[in-house]
Amino acid sequence: MTLTAEQRAEIAEQRSTSSTTLRAVAPGMEAHLYTPHEVLDHGLVRVIDYMGDDSAITQAARVSYGRGTRHVTNDEGLIRYLMRHWHSTPFEMCEVKFHVKLPVFVARQWIRHRTANVNEYSARYSILEREFYIPDPEHLAAQSTVNNQGRGELLEGEEAQRVLDLLREDAMRSYDHYEAMLSQDGQKGLARELARMNLPANIYTQWYWKTDLHNLFHFLRLRADAHAQYEIRAYAEVMCGIVKDWVPIAYGAFRDYRMGGANLSAKGVEVIKRRLRGETVTQDDSGMSAGEWREFEALWG
Ligand SMILES: Cc1cc2nc3c(=O)[nH]c(=O)nc-3n(C[C@H](O)[C@H](O)[C@H](O)COP(=O)(O)OP(=O)(O)OC[C@H]3O[C@@H](n4cnc5c(N)ncnc54)[C@H](O)[C@@H]3O)c2cc1C
Repeated sequence: MTLTAEQRAEIAEQRSTSSTTLRAVAPGMEAHLYTPHEVLDHGLVRVIDYMGDDSAITQAARVSYGRGTRHVTNDEGLIRYLMRHWHSTPFEMCEVKFHVKLPVFVARQWIRHRTANVNEYSARYSILEREFYIPDPEHLAAQSTVNNQGRGELLEGEEAQRVLDLLREDAMRSYDHYEAMLSQDGQKGLARELARMNLPANIYTQWYWKTDLHNLFHFLRLRADAHAQYEIRAYAEVMCGIVKDWVPIAYGAFRDYRMGGANLSAKGVEVIKRRLRGETVTQDDSGMSAGEWREFEALWG
């Protein structure tokens, strides 16, 4: 269970009061506002606030005085043009603020995305909850033999059980020691800022994470991608669903040009041209390295 009954009641209360505004409102995003989306075993993502919608992008691109009389089809064409030509600043006119609860080892990957504003739960000020990420058996895999930065076959039987037991036992033991060190029962009690160093990286932390749509797309392209670690991808995929409802046209262009599209080097373009002319091209006469050729063939072979 990610949220307590008290937290759920607080969210329900927040969703039950509304106010009128002259600002642009995206109906798809209003449906998500404040609502928690559960991720992993104790994590969540929820939208706390947002600014703009698809029209905010075209409005900024045209520097118009109002929402204008353009049709959705014009807006879609313009947004797709902007995305296609990496004209990114109009996408920066939309902003979103998320509340995310995530394991510390996921947070370490996430925080590398510098183009966001972050405020994290203070474990100097507050005591962390006894909540640890324990992978579901279908995500408990061995080191990949083909990708140094990934996982391969699933662990099975006794080995899987032993790993799960170790993860659970170590987490609980560390948390017991954390509590014992903090305790002021018959002792001074270690400062929270020091006691936390004994906790493992699968403990959950929380933060508010605010970014603009351009940088959010960059984050999603990297983290909703198959090469990203499953645990951060699980968050990115939920966020993709939210963005789809918020700015459906921009999200459609993003899926098409960024997630589904592919970059080609000059050498890659040349190989495709030669193949279209009927030539047989191999790695040796492509000018590409073995690794580059493998990736090229995986896409175009
Ligand atoms: C599959 C995968 C594997 C990874 N493996 C590793 C790894 O092994 N080790 C590791 O350390 N990291 C790793 N990373 C993290 C990666 O190198 C980036 O740090 C991370 O994805 C954030 O990307 P970013 O810098 O583009 O994003 P952001 O920080 O959001 O920046 C967005 C863009 O803004 C610009 N920018 C931001 N800050 C600056 C700056 N100070 N100077 C110049 N330009 C700036 C850049 O153009 C940047 O692309 C991995 C990431 C992925 C997705």
